[in-house]
Amino acid sequence: MKPVNNRELILLVEDSSYMRHYLTDLLSAHYNVRATENGTEAFRLAIELSPSLIISDIILPGINGLDLLTMVRSQREIAKVPFILLSSRTDEESIVKGLETGADDYLLKPIRAPQLLAKIKTHLELYHFRRKELENELQAEKNNNEQKDRFIEIASHELKTPLTSLYGYMQLLDDPDLTDDQLRQFYVKKSLDQLKVMTNLVNNLTNITKFQLQHVLDDFSRIEISEFIEGIINKLQSNYVFHQLSIEAEKGLSVKASPFHLEQVIGNYISNAVKYSPDSEVVKVVVRNNGNGFAEVCVKDRGIGIPKEKIKNLFKRFYRADPIKISGFGLGLYHCAEIIKNHGGRTWAESAYGVGSSFYFTIPLKEG
Ligand code: ADP
Repeated sequence: MKPVNNRELILLVEDSSYMRHYLTDLLSAHYNVRATENGTEAFRLAIELSPSLIISDIILPGINGLDLLTMVRSQREIAKVPFILLSSRTDEESIVKGLETGADDYLLKPIRAPQLLAKIKTHLELYHFRRKELENELQAEKNNNEQKDRFIEIASHELKTPLTSLYGYMQLLDDPDLTDDQLRQFYVKKSLDQLKVMTNLVNNLTNITKFQLQHVLDDFSRIEISEFIEGIINKLQSNYVFHQLSIEAEKGLSVKASPFHLEQVIGNYISNAVKYSPDSEVVKVVVRNNGNGFAEVCVKDRGIGIPKEKIKNLFKRFYRADPIKISGFGLGLYHCAEIIKNHGGRTWAESAYGVGSSFYFTIPLKEG
């Protein structure tokens, strides 16, 4: 902590009042000093003030200097604060214990001022770097937690909508006065539709988790891209009753890629093309050599399209161009972009609202 006068704060823990005053006077010429004679009070102050360095006598009444050290090291926010132990010459065993517990340094009494000041200076400089590291770590963790919270919020919201409808239809079906067979059939069909939506959402969630787990595990191998995509289309076609998947591909284009991740990207583009074209049955994949050393893959649909001003955001985390009509988590395209970036390629989309969309990615070609 750097208070108003911009000097570092040192927390001094010493039960001898003579030593405490002597050290306070000595250090006050260069630093802000907060002194206490008591280990418990010192721990409280350490948390409250987050000092830049702690100097503590080993022998204290109650909580001693070694206990204080253990407590400080176990408290995340102050765990990395430099800790200097003060000890008498006759207590070498405690010094060794202190160093094993994580003390940064020690000084034997009687204290020599130049030695103490030099040690403080060195440890403060080191701490300056450590503190930056810690701040970065904490910030990354905070961002991660925020992302997780947002994800949970979206996931529960998306699942709640079909669940509420399903509950409604089930209640209607449960009515003992419902005798109309046609109406009953209608409610059953509606319930099944909602179950399908929920199944899709859960499958999406599973894919996201699988993607994260697989992230570090998958190996790159040589892939002939048109054959690879034909295989995926054959696998996927049976999932779609109303849509016809087709491919127009230049043969003999080889890339080096992670098969698992490449399948994720192509599968995601295709399932989006199907999902966002409820009134059209055509989804076409086009593969070509773009002439600049890349294979270019495009998945085209004649679906709902995307307003021009929203296109630039599509590959951002959690972004959904039209969050009301069709459910989803807004993570699929983000993952696609991450995967393709890891492969040295690029992702983008072209679209006309109400007409259809084309989603592209490139991946470097490998000769031979
Ligand atoms: P999700 O589909 O789960 O919302 P995605 O990251 O896969 O998430 O897509 C982000 C957004 O991009 C979607 O919410 C949708 O608005 C838009 N989108 C993606 N693919 C298409 C497509 N083929 N046609 C129209 N809009 C699309």
